[in-house]
Amino acid sequence: ETQKETLGFQTEVKQLLKLMIHSLYSNKEIFLRELISNASDASEKLRFEALSNADLYENDGDLKIRVEFDEEAKTVSIIDNGIGMSRQDVVDHLGTIAKSGTASFFSSLTGDQAKDSQLIGQFGVGFYSAFIVAKQVDVYTRRAGLDASEGVHWSSAGEGEFSIENVELPQRGTRIVLSLKEGDEEFANAFRLRTLVRKYSDHIAIPVLMEKQEMPSDEEEGEEKKADKAPELETVNSATALWSRSKSELTDEEYKEFYKHVSHDFAEPLAWAHNQVEGNLEYTSLLYLPERAPFDLWNRDAPKGLKLYIQRVFIMDQADEFLPLYLRFIKGVVDSKNLSLNVSREILQKDPNVDKLRTALTKRALDMLAKLAKNEPEKYNAFWKEFGQVLKEGPAEDYANREKVLKLLRFASTHNDNAEQTVGLDDYISRMKEGQEKIYYVVADSYNAAKSSPHLEIFRKKGIEVLLLSDRIDEWMMSQLFDFDGKSFQDVSKGELNLGEVESEEEKKQQEEVAKQMEGLTERLTGALGERIKEARVTHRLTDSPACLVVGDYDMGAQMRKIMEAAGQ
Ligand code: ADP
Ligand code: MG
Repeated sequence: ETQKETLGFQTEVKQLLKLMIHSLYSNKEIFLRELISNASDASEKLRFEALSNADLYENDGDLKIRVEFDEEAKTVSIIDNGIGMSRQDVVDHLGTIAKSGTASFFSSLTGDQAKDSQLIGQFGVGFYSAFIVAKQVDVYTRRAGLDASEGVHWSSAGEGEFSIENVELPQRGTRIVLSLKEGDEEFANAFRLRTLVRKYSDHIAIPVLMEKQEMPSDEEEGEEKKADKAPELETVNSATALWSRSKSELTDEEYKEFYKHVSHDFAEPLAWAHNQVEGNLEYTSLLYLPERAPFDLWNRDAPKGLKLYIQRVFIMDQADEFLPLYLRFIKGVVDSKNLSLNVSREILQKDPNVDKLRTALTKRALDMLAKLAKNEPEKYNAFWKEFGQVLKEGPAEDYANREKVLKLLRFASTHNDNAEQTVGLDDYISRMKEGQEKIYYVVADSYNAAKSSPHLEIFRKKGIEVLLLSDRIDEWMMSQLFDFDGKSFQDVSKGELNLGEVESEEEKKQQEEVAKQMEGLTERLTGALGERIKEARVTHRLTDSPACLVVGDYDMGAQMRKIMEAAGQ
């Protein structure tokens, strides 16, 4: 196929385009950041592929990004000599959204523009953001290694369809030309573009070049001389890998912009941790905690993992070997000297240094969370709301860090008497009654069911705090836990209740007496209910309700039973 053809955008792209133009109206300038970010990704991909096939450089290994403009024609162009795209790549990447779960994300939109606009932020708009300021976008691209005749021209006005045709392109890489909308001509301006490159793309490790601004003395040289000289270019950004720069010279703004580049997220990060480590295991890591959960957090195939660099050469995206699954929401970069440049995913899985890095990075991530919990509890609570459910997979997945992860968990409890999960196990322990030996909890289908469980009566009466668990994962999680800080966990609805030293000798004696008096009743109940129960016994856990059902210490809890029943077991 070399002829011109016109194709329709995927439905989701049309929806995205519409929403985006509305929601990003006041933040138009980010289109430049997105396009430079893509140019940088394309350059890094070429550098990586050229490690095993140097011919791809086509005798031009000097990777750079150019930003040009034409004030009269009202155009802005972003040009890179990166990996480029084949015709098929163009159709796949500039006509569809290649993210799993996209369709369900869009079907979940409400149609209420204001609400949906907020959602778009967590989706990321990338290339399509060009249409915020452009009435037409033309892409000229050729994939490295392909013949000049396999260049591709893609063109669209962003209204439902695009055209595509083959053109001769001697230069590999991608040139994107934006024909600015009426009212957005301001972007075809040297000062404006420079300012934006510095503001949003300073951290890009590939040089971003613009025409050198004329010095007043140049004017004396006369028009003639200038006309036959190629324009002189200069680098506008820092053009060094941000993570390799020293922490003290980096500003919060720079960290935030870099986050948006590596994560493809629109929102700001909640926290980050930047570590430069020397010694046997040399690495630099820059880990970020997102503010919002991505729309596909629960999608198995959702991208996860870090960007892997080896001595500042980009190796791969989504390297998921460096963090455990329960920390899959962490974004960022790891750069290490201890891995060989010709790694592949297969090799990575066998390299013992990967395990060492994973251990180190897991610790970095957990420390970042612990620090946030300690110093900025409000932010930590916000984090917990978004990602707490994922972190709850941790104690079972990561035995070595179990105690650390447990410290990070947050629960609703009878102490606060509201559904907010803000109580940590350390808080609980600090409020334990004298003589209390266990951490008490109850699991139910909902917070309200947990809170009004009859099993809580005796605890409320005695002023003993009980954790109120009602998330889907809770019963399973608790079944994996035994103790924290030397104190065992006790489900208040299970087995015999032993409140330890909290009960006085006198109370115990009294209870035994009551039990004796009631022997006749419990025997009759056991007889009458027969097979349906294990035993009937006098209880001291209730103060208001006359009776309750309890499951045995080693039996499945009610929630787990329901899950098993639903699964047909
Ligand atoms: P993302 O960057 O999150 O993948 P974008 O919408 O920004 O999403 O870009 C979509 C895809 O288009 C990219 O993943 C890439 O495959 C392709 N692409 C965009 N710009 C370029 C470019 N300058 N060079 C090569 N490929 C590009
Ligand atoms: Mg992008």
